[in-house]
Amino acid sequence: MNLSTGIALDWFPRAAALAHSSRPLSCGVCEAPPRPPPPFTERHLQCVWADARLRPSLLATAAGEPVQVEHPGEWNTGPGPDFLNAALRVGPDLRRITGDVEIHVRPADWQRHRHADDPRYRRVCAHVSYYPGTLPEAELPPGTLQIALRPALDAQLDFSFDNLDLLSYPVAARATPPPCRAAMLQLTPDQRGAVLDAAGEHRLRRRAEILQAAMLDRGPAQIIYEEVMAALGYRPNKAPFRRLARVLPLELLREKSGGNPWRAYALLLGVASLLPDPTTRRIGDDETKSFLRRCWDAWWPLSGEFLPRRIPRADWVFAGVRPTNRPERRLMAAAQLFAPTPGLPERVADIAKRTQGLDANTLLQLFDLPETPYWANRLSFSAPPVDAPVALVGLPRARAILVNLLLPAVAALGAPASAWQALLADLPAEEPNELVKQTALRLFGPDHTPRLYRAGLRRQGLIHIHHEYCLNDRSLCATCPLPTSLASTTP
Ligand code: SF4
Repeated sequence: MNLSTGIALDWFPRAAALAHSSRPLSCGVCEAPPRPPPPFTERHLQCVWADARLRPSLLATAAGEPVQVEHPGEWNTGPGPDFLNAALRVGPDLRRITGDVEIHVRPADWQRHRHADDPRYRRVCAHVSYYPGTLPEAELPPGTLQIALRPALDAQLDFSFDNLDLLSYPVAARATPPPCRAAMLQLTPDQRGAVLDAAGEHRLRRRAEILQAAMLDRGPAQIIYEEVMAALGYRPNKAPFRRLARVLPLELLREKSGGNPWRAYALLLGVASLLPDPTTRRIGDDETKSFLRRCWDAWWPLSGEFLPRRIPRADWVFAGVRPTNRPERRLMAAAQLFAPTPGLPERVADIAKRTQGLDANTLLQLFDLPETPYWANRLSFSAPPVDAPVALVGLPRARAILVNLLLPAVAALGAPASAWQALLADLPAEEPNELVKQTALRLFGPDHTPRLYRAGLRRQGLIHIHHEYCLNDRSLCATCPLPTSLASTTP
């Protein structure tokens, strides 16, 4: 029987509609797609990397150094590298290397996916591909190991990608369930809920203590300003937002802007290096030009004083940021919240004095901002207006700020606990993120009901357990104190 290579094009003609283009890359390391295409995907490779029973015990870098995986990292199903916080032992001296791990079918996929331009990949310590090949070192974060799985997998005669049950990962990557799960199973549902409530209060109390110490140092208003700014930056721009709040402290912002949100916005944009110069750059439509001209006129008289303190534009992250979260929009929210007096810090301090009638809405209303003429229906300076109005701070972000900042802040300001117990019991829930889901999976197994942690306080509890126990664990759970603590102190 003669077999020709490839399937005739008139078989499955519609398949071409979903074919990926595989243009060769300029670096020259892009291998031609193998024929036939590989019977696996990146997900298969992720399962192999995560599961010690599948992963070859001894791997090698492209430079020929032996590699042992001490910890493959936390499986990250959100944006960013595939595995976070991995630990590898490398070379004959078994030097320990830690960081994130990115997995691809081919080495050149790193370039194809443009990870080199994405700051979320700066902590990558190992680039793992199925096929061997070497990327130029300048393409990867300094010191990144390049590891190919194929040579070691080929040597395992009983290995086949067909044996993988992809849907059962990442939970299946653990050879045995973590001991905290067995301890949780001994508890009744109410007791498990009580454990999460206690962990949630622990997290909030710690936040309140940290805020209180900072407030004693730099004053409550400045700390609320810094923390809300950091929260407005969301994860990618948290650091530059916080730095902006320090470079342009609240008192100075109010003094220089005269309490006017427009002038404060222009000042924030200018110091952030996010204000395009309308005199030299052609940007946007007429409305945008006139908006930027107005900002520029307010910024220009102050620019000389602030030029040396400006935050470089390169420090801001735009890749992967949702349009609604872009820093140019968020800064308008900051200007509205903080320029006027009384502003957000004073209103929070007033609320902290109340002795009754406190609920989540009282705090969420602090983010009901007046509609701004330009940003009400804009997502960036260069995009055309959108049809429906878009809030400067949406409800999910306002809830996150309430839980992570405002509630601990009022506790730090000495608010009477009795007035806040109802809110604590009815804390709004942040969106369930990957961290919450993975921690719940570790604690309760794949068949648990998410109803158990629908309340905001319990999600805080899961985050606390992840940070306090899982992130600090260096023993693959063997010495984690949580299981013992659960067994001995049933709430
Ligand atoms: S480290 Fe995390 S997963 Fe392991 S036992 Fe402790 S709480 Fe459970």
